[in-house]
Formats: sequence, structure tokens, C-alpha cells
Amino acid sequence: MTHDTFGRPLRDLRISVTDRCNFRCPYCMPKEVFGPHFTFLHREDLLSFEELARLARIFVKHGVAKVRLTGGEPLLRRDLERLVAQLAAIEGLDDIALTTNGSLLTREKARALKDAGLRRVTISLDSLDDAVFRAMNDVDFPVARVLDAIDAAADAGLAPIKIDVVVKRGMNDGSVLDLARHFRGTGHIVRFIEYMDVGNTNQWRAEDVVSGRELLEMLSREWPLVPADANYFGEVAGRWLYADGAGEIGIITSVTQPFCGSCTRARLSASGEMYLCLFAGTGYDLRRLLRTGATDAELSDVIANLWRSRDDRYSELRSQETTATRKVEMSHIGG
Ligand code: SAM
Repeated sequence: MTHDTFGRPLRDLRISVTDRCNFRCPYCMPKEVFGPHFTFLHREDLLSFEELARLARIFVKHGVAKVRLTGGEPLLRRDLERLVAQLAAIEGLDDIALTTNGSLLTREKARALKDAGLRRVTISLDSLDDAVFRAMNDVDFPVARVLDAIDAAADAGLAPIKIDVVVKRGMNDGSVLDLARHFRGTGHIVRFIEYMDVGNTNQWRAEDVVSGRELLEMLSREWPLVPADANYFGEVAGRWLYADGAGEIGIITSVTQPFCGSCTRARLSASGEMYLCLFAGTGYDLRRLLRTGATDAELSDVIANLWRSRDDRYSELRSQETTATRKVEMSHIGG
């Protein structure tokens, strides 16, 4: 296993398969920036499934046991199940997951992904209130279709399903209890995420963050909660169980209680840059190496050396100044 300068092992790989998304959530891809004139990556800039699988195989040699496919909206990438099948064939890769907004997750797609070897899905859903949800995705997408996608994923056996909710003050903090109530007792795990200062386009302000502590107070006033141990080293969500046995929720406090110390995630952008931190400014261009004939051994050395040199801990150092530094956009690097 390969460790970085703080002794953190390389365990997870997040692969962004596209920088495009069909939603325009203002906290991630605001319309004003990602409008008709925005230049997205061209098809030939994207790593092919074969290139991605080749890199994943090398990452696994360095300790990666889990891959999450993300984006952009990963289901915009045609035949994603072909990539899943290639990843599923890699020995030592125990877990393949997908993060999606659910808009394209039909029953057929969920089944095809499951059959190809996908284990689990995380579906983003910021509100059950249709008007709030339509405003948050900013493309007028109805909440009912995301709920259908959640059912489709459950029926395909992509469980446990996680429902990720970014909470932004004044926007959807009024939806927190509804979401918890709706999914209590279903086996799905709702995870509330503090709004983060990723990228430079979302006009992030600390005042808009609803802290994990506030969320916990809000939720536990309604339902007594008991803390649960992390499932594994590096798990990002704090786990809480409903005392009455109705299941589990998660709270992800990346802003108020950062967890850089246990961050074991490397990220691959859709154009093949390796990033060592969600808040990094630049990534290392692996695509150039891939396309100029580098051998697996050469790629392996580069990846290992990058990880060994890693000293990022952005969220622990977050301040007024760091918030303004140039950072890669989440749609490019993958959430
Ligand atoms: N399109 C897919 C989706 O919606 O799940 C995958 C990519 S999206 C960037 C991954 C996750 O990042 C989503 O749950 C999204 O809500 C979250 N996200 C985006 N911007 C965020 C921010 N500023 N703070 C916290 N989470 C954010």
C-alpha cells in the first residue's frame, strides 16, 4: 500500500467520467457560468473506458479497493455499464459505486449497471418539495422522477442506497426534516452535507453553511439519535442511528469538522488529470502519458510518487484567504 506524507493510505479512487451535467445546481454549476457559451471537454479529450480501466488497474496495485464513478453527471456518458464491467473484472477492486442525480437512472439502466458489477449508488436529492428542488437543480427537473430512480435502484439491488443532500441556508434547510422523515424506515441512508467552497464559481459564503451541529440538533429534536462507529477508516459521514430502530442517517461536516487526516481519496478528472484533493488548483496530466506510450510500470511510478508527495489538508487550513484561491470546479474533478 502507498502512503502520503501524513501516512494516509491510497484506498479510494473517484473517477469523473464527464464534466457535463444536465442540472445547473447554483452551488455547483451555476447557469451564469456554465451557460451556452461554456466550453466543455471534447469527446477526444475524455479518457476512454479502456484508458480508465487501465489506470484503475494500476491504482488498485497501490491499494485502491474502491472506485466511485461520478462527474458531471456520470449517466450522461453512454454505455457506462461497459466501464463498470471492465472495472468489475479487476482483481482486488472490491467495491464499485456511482454518484448520480438520478435523472437518467431508469429501471433498465439500474439493472444493466447492477448486472455489469456496480454494487451501490448514491443519489443526490436536495429537497422533496418540488418547487425547492426545481429551483435547486435550476433546470426545472421534478422531484418525482428522482424518487422513481431511487425505487429503480432499490429494485435492482443497488443497496444500501445513500441519498445525498447538500444543505444551503435559506434554500433547502427547511427540507431537512421532510427528507429524514420520508426515508426513515426504508433502509436508505440520507446524508446531509455541509455546503462547501469547492471551485470558484458558486459564490460560497460561510454564512450559507448549515453546520453539522445545527443539523444534528434539528434532527435529534424530532427523533432521538445515537452515534454509530465508522464502518471503515476514512468514512466521510458521521453515522447516526435512530434510537427507535428506524435506520441510519449521515452528517458530513467537511467545513466545520474537517476530516483531512483520514482522507484516502485520489481523484481522476474526465480528461485524465490526477488530483490529490477536492480543493486542489491543479492536477497531474496522466492522459499525456497514456497517449504517448508510457508503460504500466512508468504510470505506476508516477502515480505512486504523486501520492507519496501528497501533503494537502485544505479543509483543515480553510480561511478567508484559501476560499479565494484558484480551485478546480467540482463538475470537472467529480464530487
Ligand atoms: N451529478 C452527480 C450528482 O448529482 O450526484 C455527481 C456529481 S455531483 C458534483 C456530486 C455531489 O456533489 C452531489 O451530491 C452534489 O450535490 C455535491 N456538491 C456539489 N457542489 C457542492 C458543494 N458546493 N458543497 C457540497 N456538495 C456539493
